[in-house]
Amino acid sequence: MARTAFPRLFAVVSLVVLVTDAAFLTVNYVTARSAYHRTLHQEGEKLRSGFEVAMAMTYANMLQLATFIGSDPAIQATVLEGRLAVDAEGGGAGGERAAAARRRLADQVQTRWEAMQREFGVRQLHFHLAPGSLSFLRVHAPNKFGDRMDDLRHIIVDTNRDRQPRTGLETGRIYTGLRGVTPLMAADPEKSALQHVGAVEVGSSFEPILDTLDRRLGAGVAILLAKEHVDQAMWTEFIRRYLPGSSDSNCSCYVEATSRETIYRIIGDPLFQSYRGQSVTLPVQVGSQTFGVTRFPLHDYLGMRDQGRAPVGSVVVWADNSATYGEFREGQVFNLIYGVFAFLLVELLLWGALRFGAARLRKELAVRTAQLERSNAELSNFASIVSHDLQAPLRQVVIYLGLIERKLLGKLDEEAREYLDFAIGGGKRMSQMISELLAFSRIGRQPQAAEPVALDAVVATVLRDLSSMIAETGADIAVEGPLPVVRGVPGDIARLMTNLLGNALKYRAPDRPPVIRVSCRRDDGVWRISVADNGSGIREELHDRIFDLFQRGDQANMVDGTGIGLAVAKRIVEMQGGHIWVEPNPEGRGSLFRFTLPGAE
Ligand code: ADP
Repeated sequence: MARTAFPRLFAVVSLVVLVTDAAFLTVNYVTARSAYHRTLHQEGEKLRSGFEVAMAMTYANMLQLATFIGSDPAIQATVLEGRLAVDAEGGGAGGERAAAARRRLADQVQTRWEAMQREFGVRQLHFHLAPGSLSFLRVHAPNKFGDRMDDLRHIIVDTNRDRQPRTGLETGRIYTGLRGVTPLMAADPEKSALQHVGAVEVGSSFEPILDTLDRRLGAGVAILLAKEHVDQAMWTEFIRRYLPGSSDSNCSCYVEATSRETIYRIIGDPLFQSYRGQSVTLPVQVGSQTFGVTRFPLHDYLGMRDQGRAPVGSVVVWADNSATYGEFREGQVFNLIYGVFAFLLVELLLWGALRFGAARLRKELAVRTAQLERSNAELSNFASIVSHDLQAPLRQVVIYLGLIERKLLGKLDEEAREYLDFAIGGGKRMSQMISELLAFSRIGRQPQAAEPVALDAVVATVLRDLSSMIAETGADIAVEGPLPVVRGVPGDIARLMTNLLGNALKYRAPDRPPVIRVSCRRDDGVWRISVADNGSGIREELHDRIFDLFQRGDQANMVDGTGIGLAVAKRIVEMQGGHIWVEPNPEGRGSLFRFTLPGAE
């Protein structure tokens, strides 16, 4: 194996191993990551259903308590009285009579109100007068009454319209609550029939639910309300209870309730913020802990009725996921270590195998080269002995045939003389073939090393040697110089140019003087030399064959030759790492011989 081929082969195989290894690591990572996210998502879904069950239970409680209050005949009578007083005293807050009924109502519900707060986490008990919603008594804020909330408390407005109990989430002027509302009926003493007076509303906040859930699920739970929703629904003085710190400018939300302070760190996470309004589960890093955080939209009463409405906020549940995340990270580190280790191991084995293989190959090559050199030397010896030994008797044959011809001069008839001439000609041609064959076998076997050869000078010498033939044929020869300095053995390069230019003159067309053009071009780092003629041309099927030993073209019988010249040319060019070929002359007639040689540099 050549010394440069070894590192190249090693680099190529290493690259393949590296790409395979990297692909394997990537697939491993992607699979592990999606498994981790799946687990995270499943845990998130569990927390979400826990939250939803707690919501449903709270609604059921609120509705039950509202029914409990609204079904007390004493309370019904007081609200009816209040209603009549407000009507008589100009609506709104009413006057003295209405105030007296309000105080009585507050006294009547006081004990139950305290028990409801204690036992059920109730935050709000509110009596509304129909139609729509006119606040008669906020037991939880007794100093605020008489305001209309028709455009705000849709649960009340709807219940006062169709007298059906309802539940739902609504943001009031004071706080956002989970509300249960029932219609309040009262016996009219005059008409002795039940009359619809208004509605009772019992509300709870999220806080007690979240604390219970946190304890039961071991997870943080928080309610985020959209800033624009809160700003639009609540009285400004009550918005302040969220502040400071619960409104985050990037989150555009208020923290309505949370079971843990961690929520303030979570809402600061940019990844968390980027999923606003969508249901999503993500790992969020808080300090050294990783939480699996699930966020899903929160719809209020109107939003539940009309799914096209934007959610009023979102619910966030989170559980410490550091252990699972740690396992996932650890797995990835091991994955990477295994990957690197496997790569290094394969590289080591590969290196060893290639080294071993290369050493064996080199050894074998050395043995083969030695064998080849030996047999070449023997062959060369054999060729020179044979040709030398053949030349002597051949020369004798030719000389003695000449003597016979001279001795019998005048005594031979025409036919016999012709036979003798054929025999002498054949002998001479055979002698020429033997010496050319010998020259062919010696190319590249001589000890001369390649050196820079100026092609301009070589062509000039060759043209001088061919000058009588050029004059005889009236040839027009153009050298489009300057020709380059190439690498080669000077004698070989001269022989190459002699053969090509000699052929261009020899194989001229019978009807026109030869026009020959020598030119050159730098091509892909080597020189490409062209010899174009307007001669007889060569049939395409012979284009490859004429470069073989003893192969001659169509003019074999008309033009003297041995079929060795182009085989010699090919061998000379290939000895320098070049190529030689022939094409039809693009100018129409004749041939175009081209060959490449390395430059002297
Ligand atoms: P030789 O000229 O002794 O026959 P070569 O090996 O030089 O042997 O050429 C082989 C054959 O290629 C020739 O016999 C001839 O048919 C063809 N040939 C070579 N050069 C040319 C040329 N310039 N134009 C046409 N034919 C050519």
